[in-house]
Amino acid sequence: MKTVYVDNNATTQVAQEVLEVMLPYFKGRYGNPSSMHSFGGNISRDIKKAREQVAAMINASPSEIMFTSCGTESDNTAILSAIHSAPDKKHIITTRVEHPAIKNLCEHLSGQGYRTTFVPVDNKGRLDLDFLYNCLTDDTVIVSVMWANNETGVLFPIEEISRVMAEKKIFFHTDAVQAAGKVPIDVQKVRANMLSISGHKIHAPKGIGALFIRKGTRFSPFLIGGHQENGRRGGTENVASIAGLGKATELAVQHLEEETVEVSRLRDRLEAALVRDVPSAIINGDRENRLPGTTNISFEYIEGEAILLMMNELGICASSGSACTSGSLEPSHVLRAMGVPYTAAHGSIRFSLSRYNTAEEVDYIIDNLPPVIARLRNMSPFWKGQQVAAKA
Ligand code: PLP
Repeated sequence: MKTVYVDNNATTQVAQEVLEVMLPYFKGRYGNPSSMHSFGGNISRDIKKAREQVAAMINASPSEIMFTSCGTESDNTAILSAIHSAPDKKHIITTRVEHPAIKNLCEHLSGQGYRTTFVPVDNKGRLDLDFLYNCLTDDTVIVSVMWANNETGVLFPIEEISRVMAEKKIFFHTDAVQAAGKVPIDVQKVRANMLSISGHKIHAPKGIGALFIRKGTRFSPFLIGGHQENGRRGGTENVASIAGLGKATELAVQHLEEETVEVSRLRDRLEAALVRDVPSAIINGDRENRLPGTTNISFEYIEGEAILLMMNELGICASSGSACTSGSLEPSHVLRAMGVPYTAAHGSIRFSLSRYNTAEEVDYIIDNLPPVIARLRNMSPFWKGQQVAAKA
């Protein structure tokens, strides 16, 4: 059975070019970049190159890039650094739709003497900017707003928000894990103090990330140890993955324009066909401002998990918008924040495409998914009840 992988916001395949750059570090090039001898010391040049490649993707200076172990570490480092650098301030602002790497940390800090404001979104997942600006106080220590939502792909106006925060001299962080490599990022225009990146969303391996730290931003390390990463993060460098991330960012820059056109064309074709062929299919989120490859579609009155399982039998890999919490299926906090009704949120599926997806794969989904939805609805008392009510 073939595999049609449309879950690229969860993780991506490692690009062949990335793998090739990484392999030597598992064979002969195993030196420690901190060593005095050239066998190890030469490797620090490879790290330097990767730092330049990552910096180039976001128009930063290489010294503003710190490698981390993942997007979660980048996010945690940004928030914890900000609060440790200004210990007298106790107010954090973020949004209701952040990834758990931010959301759960802020909730955790709320139990530790901090007060967190979670800014709401409207029914299309767009941020309430007036609410955000109105809740800034002298006590606000950090504002953290994601660039692109991982579930809906909705993009927030980060350039505008960053400008306001820079004028007010408020520390601003953006989780750009889903945006980096998929939309242009220029930190000369976006005035964020810090910005998070993760490798495995852009065809580098899992377990590598980066944090942009604007020059002049006060920084407090999360991992205290050796002098690596200019003394900002202890721990011997994950050289192979760093080199891989460097190559992946170079490829992302190279492919960005073409990929935006191609991937959004595939996404639009999938969306149009599903909305045409499946009754009561609703697209969640703002369709104007979103990532090229992401669509979140609700198939009302059936369970997303059942759809996923049946798609899995067909080799189609996607994600649902609900998670198992304490034994029962709960719609995601993102769809809940958008006010998506339970009957729709439960049956929501996220398709996320990459440059490796093809028109044939999209057509395979278009041909095979509508009968799956029809079969599940035939078994759904809610759907049948709905049909009876509509006829009455
Ligand atoms: N932030 C966002 C928006 C994400 O989508 C993810 C991963 O899904 C993360 C952070 C965490 O990244 P990582 O898996 O590299 O820790």
